[in-house]
Amino acid sequence: ADDALFLGLDFGTSGARATVVDNAGDVVTETTARYPPIVDGGKGGDGVPEGGWAEAWRGALWSLLDQLDAGVRARVAAVAVDGTSGTVLIVDRKSGEPVYPPMLYNEKRGDAMDFVCAVAPEGHTVRSPTSALCKLHSWWVSNGERGEGEYALLHHADWVASLLHGVPHGETDQNNALKLGFDPGLGPNGDYPAWMKSLPYAPMLPGNVRAPGTKVADVKTERARSVLTNPSGCVVVAGTTDSIAAFVAARCTTPGDAVTSLGSSLALKLVSTVRVDDSAKGVYSHRLCGSWLVGGSSNLGGWLLRSNFSDDELVALTDKIDLEDVGKESSVPDYYPGVLMGFGMTVKEATDALSPRPDADEDFLRAILGSVAGVEARSYREMASMGASNVARVFTAGGGAKNPKWSTIRSRAMGGIPVAASEFAEASYGSALLARMGHYELPTYVPEE
Ligand code: ADP
Repeated sequence: ADDALFLGLDFGTSGARATVVDNAGDVVTETTARYPPIVDGGKGGDGVPEGGWAEAWRGALWSLLDQLDAGVRARVAAVAVDGTSGTVLIVDRKSGEPVYPPMLYNEKRGDAMDFVCAVAPEGHTVRSPTSALCKLHSWWVSNGERGEGEYALLHHADWVASLLHGVPHGETDQNNALKLGFDPGLGPNGDYPAWMKSLPYAPMLPGNVRAPGTKVADVKTERARSVLTNPSGCVVVAGTTDSIAAFVAARCTTPGDAVTSLGSSLALKLVSTVRVDDSAKGVYSHRLCGSWLVGGSSNLGGWLLRSNFSDDELVALTDKIDLEDVGKESSVPDYYPGVLMGFGMTVKEATDALSPRPDADEDFLRAILGSVAGVEARSYREMASMGASNVARVFTAGGGAKNPKWSTIRSRAMGGIPVAASEFAEASYGSALLARMGHYELPTYVPEE
């Protein structure tokens, strides 16, 4: 029997998690690690933990691995890492050690926008102050000359993986590289576009941009080999971003399959045979297992509920909603008519739009649930009108997945397609499936039934 195990490591915004699965894709064990407390700033994740972010991630990595049973560690045959999308590090080309504080996913480098908008085509994902390319450009303008030929760029997940395989620079995956400007549709395996290759800092870009779920290199560093002790060896497999890893966890790959994350905000991901991109709508396509993963998001999500009701009130009021009373559904207001994915509404505008408020709290709740469901349904419809596959079934992740009545309301808004909570929603589980895929060299991460 094949007793190989597969390790997925998720490095999220507030902590890290490891999930180990077996050859059938079933969970064997999990460990978690927190980052040290934020010492300055602290609001909205703008502060930095004691020792800096890179040390926080390094510490969390060894903590996750050290917590695993020795018997499990000795059977891990492959590992994949996901990290926050758009977080980048500038590292020394020889040692792989960071030479500058990591630039985080939400950090804005607006000073690079004029330049990036002049070189990148209209509608390109890098034309955003949080893009990895804006971060690299901004860094290079003030530090580049000092380090020409000495430094390289890695994404969050790439750097954590480098602590395992020891390759100091040059390795990334197609999903993390998208915000850097990598074009997954260029040539058979994707490529950086010509305008990127002529940038003065092009030599800093990772040269090996691999498909998620394909082999990168053996686990080799001394620290990693001291914990990942499989006598048959252990390989690092290309990972992805944290949100795509959470999508992978839902174990779907058929065009028309979608995962909606209903947390504080709304995030949509749809498997499509056709690639669609429009930066004005915040819609972009990632390459995944030979298909396209079309993503879009909106700030209209669970925070609208939380700013009006506690989670306990949500449960109690949801109980009072009578879904058989279809007349009621059409009589409560739609607060966001015509609104699509994108960030066109500020918090104040979205809050002010919650009017008129029905007398009964359960009717107000129903109106908010229906209004967000409308945004979701229109957004998937909009993706289809842009050329993407029609949504056929939706898995739900995030706090909203706990509410089956909301699922029914959303299903109705989407023309009656199935809407169900995702059985697995942890990004680390998705990464473990990618590790498994890479070890067996499978075409997909979905375990055979
Ligand atoms: P985050 O995006 O902050 O990680 P979560 O995935 O934890 O969020 O989801 C939190 C959201 O889930 C909250 O905004 C809350 O309003 C919503 N939520 C919690 N319980 C319910 C429920 N029973 N029905 C609908 N929404 C809920």
